[in-house]
Amino acid sequence: MMRVAVLGSTGSIGVSTLDVLGRHRDRFEVVALAAASSHARLLEQCRAHRPRVAVLTDPRAARELESGLRAAGLATEVACGADALADVAGAPDVDAVMAAIVGAAGLPSTLAAALAGKRVLLANKESLVVGGELLMDAARCGGATLIPIDSEHNAIFQCMPAGREPGRAVPGVRRVLLTASGGPFLRASRAELAHVTPEQACAHPRWKMGRKISVDSATLMNKGLELIEACLLFGMEPGKVEVVVHPQSIVHSLVEYVDGSILAQLGNPDMRTPIAHALGWPERIGSGVESLDLVAAARLDFEAPDVERFPALRLAREAAESGGTCPAVLNAANEVAVAAFLAGKLGFARIAEVVEAVLDRHDRLAVTGLEVVLEADSRARGIAESLLVGEARSRA
Ligand code: NAD
Ligand code: MG
Repeated sequence: MMRVAVLGSTGSIGVSTLDVLGRHRDRFEVVALAAASSHARLLEQCRAHRPRVAVLTDPRAARELESGLRAAGLATEVACGADALADVAGAPDVDAVMAAIVGAAGLPSTLAAALAGKRVLLANKESLVVGGELLMDAARCGGATLIPIDSEHNAIFQCMPAGREPGRAVPGVRRVLLTASGGPFLRASRAELAHVTPEQACAHPRWKMGRKISVDSATLMNKGLELIEACLLFGMEPGKVEVVVHPQSIVHSLVEYVDGSILAQLGNPDMRTPIAHALGWPERIGSGVESLDLVAAARLDFEAPDVERFPALRLAREAAESGGTCPAVLNAANEVAVAAFLAGKLGFARIAEVVEAVLDRHDRLAVTGLEVVLEADSRARGIAESLLVGEARSRA
């Protein structure tokens, strides 16, 4: 039995993870579930999976959950607060941790899982962008197995030779090709982009995802974060990671070797495939995903991304090249700007402009420890917030 903790269980990845786990009850035991505040959904998940512990970071929601569990006669313990997430991630009765919290808020629990030597199923790409080499080192020191859940990185993982050292360049790999769907605004003009609403931005043509990553996909910041993620996971120079727009989202990414061979992983766009891969690895287990009908798909198109209309991708590449605290600052500014956009307080096209303005005001530091990135993250959030306040004042 592999004992699994699902952090972010009420979200899009969390729900898909529980779907896969529920298909293999002989193989996996759900030990812990965790989320921010959605107590009703978490209670339902506790009924279905009977975990030892359930965590909510919001205290009022945790009390609601507690009374729901007692009324249902369930023995699941309730824990509350952000520290409880890291406790669960490193708990001795947990073998594998699905890191599916959204944003840098997932960093402490992902680090705890890595240090405790767990199998870390890494969906929370922001923790890698922010934590960078610190997280890779923690996985190495802790003896953790880091398996990416992001469909592109999971595809690359599958196309890389077995037995490679995590985070180290693989001899013989010439480049990595990250595919991007292009998001809902692939064909939108600059003028149209200025007026898009949160609802339009969250209506992704291929994937059903949480709101934050949906906006990131629409600005292409998601692909930028993924570029940084790929450099860290596979020891690649940013210049050797190329982004290719592939609107059908069937080829999930590709690895090119020096002999000219290109290996790709294909499949229907359904996150249960990478989740099942990472849970079962090195074996293969069913995911519930239908076979890909290549004849029905008929076409696979590829085109270059337009960094003029989608400057977030350029900003992320620059941050990857600068290194140090720049990726953490890029991520923090983006989290603040995306939240403001989703709250109707910032225009879509302004997201990348805010990120750029914050990066311009940042003096890059070398990352010598976790304090350095946390400090850079919090300063960047402060600068981004003050830019937004200034903007709101000038509009009023
Ligand atoms: P989501 O918004 O649907 O779910 C987020 C989950 O995290 C929820 O359970 C929420 O309660 C929890 N959460 C949020 N803030 C928290 C906090 N501060 N403390 C504890 N829990 C918190 O998001 P999602 O789409 O499932 O994405 C989760 C992560 O996976 C993101 O990092 C995203 O980039 C990555 N990812 C998602 C997809 C996808 O298809 N959805 C694909 C690739 C990568
Ligand atoms: Mg992805």
